[in-house]
Amino acid sequence: METCEYLDSCPFYLGTIERKAVDIEKLKEEYCRKSPLRCARHMISVALGVEKIPEGLYPDEKMVAYELIAGSA
Ligand code: SF4
Repeated sequence: METCEYLDSCPFYLGTIERKAVDIEKLKEEYCRKSPLRCARHMISVALGVEKIPEGLYPDEKMVAYELIAGSA
């Protein structure tokens, strides 16, 4: 188990982005506290920089991450 290095600064984890009708605690457990490398926000941060993360992106919205990263190639 490996927690995310962005826990203290990530708007999703801090709860400052728009809420969606999903189980936020489950996502935090699944991504932020267990597998941050699978998180869409984390992927974009590593590949393109933290400033490229769409504001309201959730960790499980990986298609957005794939498209952004592929589009930047
Ligand atoms: S949403 Fe992603 S980048 Fe943010 S704290 Fe969780 S795992 Fe890290």
